[in-house]
Amino acid sequence: MCEAFIEQRCQTCGSVVQCRTWEHVIGGRLQWVVLCGCGTCGGGETEEFGWDETPAQVRQALLDTCGTFRLRVQAPQQVARMPVMRVLRATGEPLASVSARVEALMTQGQTGTEAELELLALRLAEVGVPTTTARDDQG
Ligand SMILES: [Zn+2]
Repeated sequence: MCEAFIEQRCQTCGSVVQCRTWEHVIGGRLQWVVLCGCGTCGGGETEEFGWDETPAQVRQALLDTCGTFRLRVQAPQQVARMPVMRVLRATGEPLASVSARVEALMTQGQTGTEAELELLALRLAEVGVPTTTARDDQG
């Protein structure tokens, strides 16, 4: 698991503090965490976390520090499209664009943070679709 750093204001004294942040997959869901400790006021550590939708600042810090990853479907010509469609629909992809998303996934793969793709890989594995994920050096 890779960690990144973001700056936030201490809730006690207002100093700018460096916070550690990361994402991980727990129980089939994406969780993000921001952990801040203020050295100015010694106000102790504050922890903030949430599920599914990582805040843009956290996500960008993770992409910058940990890199962009790319998930690819193995042997896409042998993969049935319907189960993949259902997986993508369950992640919130609108019906109107899901076919295009499936084809994009089959041909180019999907980029994102390591944890996002770990979760997508889990969901695709559940419907029998094997994938590989690697650092995307073009991203
Ligand atoms: Zn403080």
